[in-house]
Amino acid sequence: MLQVKNLEVFYDSARALNGVSLEVREGQCISIVGSNGAGKSTLMKAISGLQPSSKGSIHFLGEDITRKKAHDVTPLGICYVLEGRGLFRSMTVLDNLNLGAYHYYKRKNLPEIEQRRKSVFERFPILKKREKQLAGTLSGGEQQMLAIGQAIMARPKLLLLDEPSMGLAPLIVKDIFRVILELKRQGTTVLIVEQNARLALSVSDYAYVMERGQITLEGPGKELMSNEKVLEAYLGGS
Ligand code: ATP
Repeated sequence: MLQVKNLEVFYDSARALNGVSLEVREGQCISIVGSNGAGKSTLMKAISGLQPSSKGSIHFLGEDITRKKAHDVTPLGICYVLEGRGLFRSMTVLDNLNLGAYHYYKRKNLPEIEQRRKSVFERFPILKKREKQLAGTLSGGEQQMLAIGQAIMARPKLLLLDEPSMGLAPLIVKDIFRVILELKRQGTTVLIVEQNARLALSVSDYAYVMERGQITLEGPGKELMSNEKVLEAYLGGS
């Protein structure tokens, strides 16, 4: 579904990605783990068209999207839930959800939009209760739910989730990951960037470890969990 080959990204003269290659197959849950500053978010931004790359290529469903901008990438089915969530804080929960569907917001699509909104509210009932509340006044967990809800509204084929567990209480994290796995079961492909390596690896079919802008290890999630180097660096030893 997604093929990234030899990708390089610079911020001015600083190289953030140095020859990154990875593959995501349809229907899988893939994670990228690594410490602060490894380049995980930069990779997500490059895939979603928010950050240009200087070398390498990105193909999605056979189409070369390397030079495409975010507004052209989203309608293809790639939805990026940003670290820090990227919501419109001064707009209501409902308006934030509707904005997720902006790229196909036409009269003939209203039944689908309504159906998707209903499914978001079923998955996250708290959002229904808060539908008229401003997004900026939601709790951290509710904001993460809204950000995922907004992505569901956008008809994702590939969902990019940047640190979905960041700053959240364990029970909320459990809830968020329950929905992520449910989306996967229903056919959405998921690429997760996480600092919580244990959590990410435990739910992933396949995973990549990133260090200083490069992929240094890869393998099935559960296999990497018992890899000595991963245990030492990301899982607090054996
Ligand atoms: P974290 O988990 O802390 O978010 P990360 O693995 O997602 O880290 P990135 O945010 O991709 O890492 O950052 C990779 C490198 O690029 C870091 O050295 C960072 O300082 C740098 N960087 C990221 N964004 C910018 C920017 N807008 N301008 C300049 N440098 C940047």
